Amino acid sequence: MTGVLYVVATPIGNLEDWSPRAVATLRAVSVIAAEDTRHSSRLMQHFNIATPLLAVHDHNEGSRAAGLVARLQAGDDIALISDAGTPLISDPGYRLVAAVQAAGLQVVPVPGACAAIAALSAAGLPSDRFIFEGFLPAKVQGRRERLQQLADESRTLIFYEAPHRIADCLADMVAVLGSERRVVLAREVTKAFETIRQLPLEEMLAFVQGDPNQQRGEIVLVLEGATAEAGEQDWREADRVLGVLMTELPLKQAAALAADITGLKKNALYERALQLRG
Ligand code: SAM
Repeated sequence: MTGVLYVVATPIGNLEDWSPRAVATLRAVSVIAAEDTRHSSRLMQHFNIATPLLAVHDHNEGSRAAGLVARLQAGDDIALISDAGTPLISDPGYRLVAAVQAAGLQVVPVPGACAAIAALSAAGLPSDRFIFEGFLPAKVQGRRERLQQLADESRTLIFYEAPHRIADCLADMVAVLGSERRVVLAREVTKAFETIRQLPLEEMLAFVQGDPNQQRGEIVLVLEGATAEAGEQDWREADRVLGVLMTELPLKQAAALAADITGLKKNALYERALQLRG
């Protein structure tokens, strides 16, 4: 019998969120692969889990994977945990899970807390479709470039952000995306100073800049997607299409055809055509 790799989520703050199944799994396996063994040993002590811990982090995951696959093949069950929340979500584990899958062995999730999903569930922004962006680049130029690439994304966007960068990050969002988009600051989720607050981007920037407490702890930002109104890029394309059609067709017909081509609203394109002609 070969062993199983269990991918086990741990709490993101409130220890009462941890499931009996997660605790039982960690007690039953032969070894726990943990991102930071010193950090996780406190959690293990609290829950009386005596299973040995083995450090598996970003810097040694590739080299550790072969040894762990061999242990699974020899019949040991193994659990993978990270410092908090769900492993692999802005955390190590992908290379190990891929190696175990590639060896034809079983990977079983033991789900639990994930800061991104907890924040989204309480954000009050559309949640039928969303994207998870993890951490934005730490430096202004890279961060603004990434935000520019995301400017037309219509799905709700979820970001993780470090507390010492939250004000700069919000300032860049205002600069690239404008002041009006709604954003939710989900800070210290499940902990004593939990804050879940929704404001337009510019007001959120002022709120965070005006209160140093909002620049502390762990933070998720949930950002409203681009609205159905056309973005700048869409209008550039629409103007080009209208410009061509208007040389050959009456305005109404040009607007109707441009609507078919661009997917934008006919009335809005007619208004635009009037402006262009004017
Ligand atoms: N794997 C984790 C998960 O499932 O959420 C995320 C790990 S990532 C290295 C750490 C980041 O997650 C933090 O910097 C913060 O952005 C977010 N985070 C973790 N716990 C949080 C909490 N209690 N409240 C708000 N954000 C949290």
